[in-house]
Amino acid sequence: MGKVFVIGIGPGEENYMAPAAKEGIISSDVIIGYKTYIDLIRPFTEGKKVIDSGMKKEIERCNLAVDLAEEGATVALVSSGDPGIYGMAGALLEVKHERKSPIEVEVIPGVTAVSAAAAVLGAPLMHDFAVISLSDLLTDWEVIKKRLALAGEGDFVIALYNPKSKGRVTQIEEARNILLQHRKSTTPVGIVRNARRQGEEMVITTLEEMLTHPIDMFTMVIIGNSNTLVQDGKMVTPRGYHL
Ligand code: SAH
Repeated sequence: MGKVFVIGIGPGEENYMAPAAKEGIISSDVIIGYKTYIDLIRPFTEGKKVIDSGMKKEIERCNLAVDLAEEGATVALVSSGDPGIYGMAGALLEVKHERKSPIEVEVIPGVTAVSAAAAVLGAPLMHDFAVISLSDLLTDWEVIKKRLALAGEGDFVIALYNPKSKGRVTQIEEARNILLQHRKSTTPVGIVRNARRQGEEMVITTLEEMLTHPIDMFTMVIIGNSNTLVQDGKMVTPRGYHL
């Protein structure tokens, strides 16, 4: 019986990939993942069977990984960032359970987009924060709006994954409107595109101005809480130390 490693490769730059992720890839016979991520790990895939597939085929990819492991292969299923954060780990475990498959599964964590983006901005996540995906493909928009409102009310720093895509443009506008009900329009907002990978860009702006900057599916948006400051060009949420 084989095994599936569900591997987080981090944000993209090789230095940000854990040695355990590299070892998992090197010890696998087959590598499965979305093409963009496979390209990032080419140096480790030589001599291996590589199966790259389109973005929307998550469940097919999981079934294929389980099929191959049941045949005795060691399989690496790769995700960007951390595979347990809007990644492939949950789907793989659900498919394994549904199929009553006896294969072994090992999840290898990675640097997730919110930590990579926070590091680019400074230290915006020093106090309690909430992570919310604005993608309503798998989650009702009403549920997402409720979470935005409650995180706003709770004065959490809020990090938005999947903020906007070509076909999904209004959610970020609605999210901003909801948060303006709980936060000042001068609240610092950090926008980071391609954090810790080629093409990294960042801007620190405000809740008022945030929509004047480009936001897409390679972008992380971090909205400060009522204490978040911009100091020396960095976004910082004070923890409460007395200096
Ligand atoms: N499993 C991934 C998240 C997948 S959801 C992780 O742990 O990072 C995809 C969303 O993550 C993107 O739409 C974007 O909002 C964010 N993202 C992923 N990598 C990013 C990066 N390097 N810089 C900025 N945002 C990123």
